[in-house]
Amino acid sequence: LVIIALALIGCSQNKVSTTDNNVEEKFIDSVLATMSIDDKIGQTNLRGTSSRSKTLSDELKEDVKQGKVGALLNVMKVEFVDELQKIAVEESPNKIPLIFGRDVVHGFKTIFPIPIGLASSWDTDIVKSSSRIAAIEASSVGIRWTFAPMLDIARDSRWGRIAESPGEDPYLASVYGKAYIEGFQGDSLNNPTSIAACAKHYIGYGAVIGGRDYNTTIIPEPLLRNVYLPPFQSALDVGVATVMTSFNEINGIPATGNEFLLKNVLRDELNFDGFVVSDWDSVIEMIAHGYAKDEKQAGELAANAGMDMEMSSRAYEHYLKDLIKEGKVTESQLNAFVKNILRIKLRLGLFEMPYRDKNNESSFYKKEHLAEAKEAAIKSSVLLKNKNILPLSGDTKVALIGPLANAPLDQMGTWTFDGEKEHTITPLKAFKEAKVNVTYVTGLTHSRDRSKAQFKKATNGVKDSDVIVFVAGEEAILSGEAHSRASLDLPGVQEDLIKELSKTGKPIVLVIMAGRPITITNIIDNVDAVLMSWHPGTMGGTALQEIIFGLREPEGRLPVSWPKVAGQLPYFYNHKNTGRPANKKDYVAMYDIPIGAWQSSLGNDSHYLDIGYTPHFPFGFGLGYTEFQYDNLQISKDTIGFNEELIVKVSVTNVGKKKGKEIVQFYTQDIVGSITRPIRELKGFQHVSLNAGETKEVIFKVSAAQLEFTNHKQIRDAEEGDFNIWVGSDAESGLKDTFYLKK
Ligand code: BGC
Repeated sequence: LVIIALALIGCSQNKVSTTDNNVEEKFIDSVLATMSIDDKIGQTNLRGTSSRSKTLSDELKEDVKQGKVGALLNVMKVEFVDELQKIAVEESPNKIPLIFGRDVVHGFKTIFPIPIGLASSWDTDIVKSSSRIAAIEASSVGIRWTFAPMLDIARDSRWGRIAESPGEDPYLASVYGKAYIEGFQGDSLNNPTSIAACAKHYIGYGAVIGGRDYNTTIIPEPLLRNVYLPPFQSALDVGVATVMTSFNEINGIPATGNEFLLKNVLRDELNFDGFVVSDWDSVIEMIAHGYAKDEKQAGELAANAGMDMEMSSRAYEHYLKDLIKEGKVTESQLNAFVKNILRIKLRLGLFEMPYRDKNNESSFYKKEHLAEAKEAAIKSSVLLKNKNILPLSGDTKVALIGPLANAPLDQMGTWTFDGEKEHTITPLKAFKEAKVNVTYVTGLTHSRDRSKAQFKKATNGVKDSDVIVFVAGEEAILSGEAHSRASLDLPGVQEDLIKELSKTGKPIVLVIMAGRPITITNIIDNVDAVLMSWHPGTMGGTALQEIIFGLREPEGRLPVSWPKVAGQLPYFYNHKNTGRPANKKDYVAMYDIPIGAWQSSLGNDSHYLDIGYTPHFPFGFGLGYTEFQYDNLQISKDTIGFNEELIVKVSVTNVGKKKGKEIVQFYTQDIVGSITRPIRELKGFQHVSLNAGETKEVIFKVSAAQLEFTNHKQIRDAEEGDFNIWVGSDAESGLKDTFYLKK
């Protein structure tokens, strides 16, 4: 059929142009014209399978043969992929190829740092090469679709899925998401090593109340458009093939049945022409939400909202035909779903070449893949404190301790179905390979261990060392889906062990491997350095060894504000002022003032009495092994018109003793608006590499378009008035100036 259709529209098999829309649409229409309603419904069905299945069920084979399945997820045996595709293209009614999907989130076999780690690199090149490598490895086993990247803005570190997120900032998330997608999708989707990306979860999933996964969200439209939508918009700008709806409801309507979000915004405004997939069972979850009374109504609501492909649940399979007969859903709506799905299958080149590229076999763990994974881990590591201890000199006698020092599975982090712990380089392994003078000391068996039984042995074990490197954190299972935490302290008795070790008088380098910021207020004074390495993936140990011994410097900057205690959450740097702007007094000290003196002694601004207001480390923060100074901020004009650009220049000097890299950050504030505006917003950043003593001029440009926002009347525009700008090294510092934007 496909060949006949191709012939009918005048294309030879090899010449279906996926860039010519007319040819594309003609082809899709010609396929659609031959399909029955059942065949069409089959295309909307994304069937989940268990990755652990050792055999291919006859039922699944039969369903594929009958055209009841359009896509599959988690088929892990490559022979099954080949066999099912053969059935689809040779025996199914319309011979339409299947798409095989998988959560290839931060690497396939070669595991890269978890997404929040990659976001800490603020480096689009490394993000792009990580997803390119993931695509090369995954496509070799027939996977042509990944459920990534997750683009949910996360402003609450209790939420377990912050590990998979780009952090709290819409601008950073947008540039990061774009790079992630470009890597997965390659130069063209129609290339055997390209895989279709999926921008998820549309939308607001990170705004769940209290950071509790799957919870409800309340997102007024200006907030939706100013904060949650931009990363999706930028994903669409680079041609993301698919979008996944989120589990949550938004202002009372589940995302999966949300016509406004799926039709008005995604299709009509943003012109999305790929397909929308539900999240796992999110169609039938609308029953539990209290939005649909049964499976049939759930299917009706999803269909009328414009949700194209159903993951796992089968409301469309069971009821779409009846709903069409009853006039509750139109056949043209179903046709639109099928066309969206076929369009992506066509763009992926599956009609021409449905099978995986056998030339691409054995792409796993290639030397260059491992080298990039190490690079990514270095670029993702954020140095938070360094009291003249790092880097260590090569002959330092190190006592290596802590539950993550040799935890090959856990250091890969969440969503790593395919990474194999046998390939992971842990810090212990890396230190040994690099011939570090290291003693490995066990104090705790895993991150949640509550036993202090080995503490004595541990404190004795470190006695002969010069420095203790304590690799603390969370096991992989403590972040990710359905893994929110209420306390963000190190789990178990890790803090107690750190305090015991600090009594030995040995300097302590605290390395944290975790899926979220960890509150370290209780132990920060017991340690000399703190290095956040997130869950750094396959090459994490090597990256850490190189950083700790100064072969490289840690290059990451925080993509989220790092709280002092979980009670400060949600916290995000781009918040608004209140009528009582927070001032940055040290309230911790003031907590101890005498009873009765509270009212008069404390400011009446927006804060917590016991911990103040500001985070422990601000968004954008991260140290290296040298220091930078910012001077001479200049703006091209004091007033710019709506069609003009403001040029901002600053001098950055490496005032330390070593060559180093800085990420120069540019923020603005719209001081007065028709709705109140954030106290700062990131608008740009640049990487500069400077030798000791060297100075470079860094230039940013800002135009009215970058200052636009949506107000309460849903008007999107920049507004005339005064703006502050800052250029500096994080969201709380920087040189400041002001300009006026004039209509
Ligand atoms: C997650 C998605 C994921 C899907 C398929 C769901 O539980 O929310 O992010 O892509 O499962 O594994």
